[in-house]
Amino acid sequence: TTSEWDKLSERLPLWLEESRRHSVNGAPASYIPELAHAPADALGITIASADGRQLTFGDCGISFTLQSISKVFTLLLALMDQGEEGVFRKVGMEPTGDDFNSMLKLELVEPGIPFNPLINAGAIVISSLIRGQTPAEKTGRILAFFRELTGDPALTWNEQVRASEASTAHRNRSLAYFLKDNRVLDEDVEEVLDVYFRHCSIEATCQHIAKLALVLALGGKDPATGRQLVPRRYVQIAKSFMITCGMYNASGEFAIKVGLPAKSGVAGGILALVPGRYGIGVIGPALNDKGNSVAGVQLLQTMSEACDWSIF
Ligand code: GLU
Repeated sequence: TTSEWDKLSERLPLWLEESRRHSVNGAPASYIPELAHAPADALGITIASADGRQLTFGDCGISFTLQSISKVFTLLLALMDQGEEGVFRKVGMEPTGDDFNSMLKLELVEPGIPFNPLINAGAIVISSLIRGQTPAEKTGRILAFFRELTGDPALTWNEQVRASEASTAHRNRSLAYFLKDNRVLDEDVEEVLDVYFRHCSIEATCQHIAKLALVLALGGKDPATGRQLVPRRYVQIAKSFMITCGMYNASGEFAIKVGLPAKSGVAGGILALVPGRYGIGVIGPALNDKGNSVAGVQLLQTMSEACDWSIF
């Protein structure tokens, strides 16, 4: 409603500064060396509404890499390429309660099959399911998908971040070789990882994230044209994973405190959506010990409480 939009425009600058102060309780990720340079106390937000309006506050001019946020969209593309059956033969539907790069419970759903498509092991399998003869073709299709959804033909990956992750990804490499040994991955491991690192390092702004989120909020429809960009059923699947596993092993807490489908990434981005109404993009590089943006989660909680957005 108009009054809610007015309230958001009026109160967001204050909420943002209050939330920003929480950044001192976290730090940018450093296991990918390039990510450690991010400004720790930055906080920016964009809200895009179904009727074409946009609000943007704070440090939303900065760009950052999607990291795990990209996994929602590679999942959608894999579903479009392989169908539900093709995808869920190779990856499960359950949350793990473990860290995003966990090796502990890889085997629980069925021998060797990762719990879900949002943990690293699952997302690496998903990268292998993207149609294409070569890693370059798969990456090209992923990029084309992101460009279509965001409407930005210039969207691409950040080469420094890609190279930084590729040279330090010992754990992801071992996860992938384990999956290969279990015959969950059929392709060459390094080629699959190359696709994975590239989509994780796609560089975006809060505006891009808000637009991506709005497409999900509208059940896969382009907000401007109404065209169905992604089948509604696949968006439903992606949103279910966002609720159960989108915020790592703080997904339960986030569901209680914020109550919106969301996905965070280790660069500090969060994609969140209010069904049928808004797409939200947040950036706050300082992460808490669960890997989520401290200030970003705080800001989303403040907004959700003030506007009564919880879907539950
Ligand atoms: N590329 C990152 C990794 O695989 C993504 C992690 C994340 O954002 O959760 O470690």
